[in-house]
Amino acid sequence: MLEDNIFLKIIARQIPSQIIHEDDWCLAFHDVNPQAPVHVLIIPRKEIPTHGDLVDADVELLGHLHLIAVKLAKQLKLDDGYRVVINCRDRGGQTVPHLHFHLMGGRDFHWPPG
Ligand code: 5GP
Repeated sequence: MLEDNIFLKIIARQIPSQIIHEDDWCLAFHDVNPQAPVHVLIIPRKEIPTHGDLVDADVELLGHLHLIAVKLAKQLKLDDGYRVVINCRDRGGQTVPHLHFHLMGGRDFHWPPG
């Protein structure tokens, strides 16, 4: 996994991104290398490296991130369906060491994902 936490730099506005949502808990912005017509990343402001680092105290934050995913899916007109993905650590395909939800839509997705 890359050691450099690019997403902290996005939160700090040290590097630009196309932010579409921001609140006290999280940010959402378009993925720089989209894998679908809609590909948005939702990230917590809190530094949580991976899904496997979540703790009981994060339960409210997690609920919030999911509800933002629902809100953005509506806003981005993904009424016919979408996919939410969390890659965890090396074998899960995670490349940025800061928890993020991928919200993807605008095309058909298949299973298993590969
Ligand atoms: P992961 O592989 O960790 O699950 O997903 C990381 C995602 O972050 C990838 O889809 C990648 O395209 C995206 N990404 C990496 N660097 C940047 C960046 O600087 N800006 C934006 N907007 N997305 C990035």
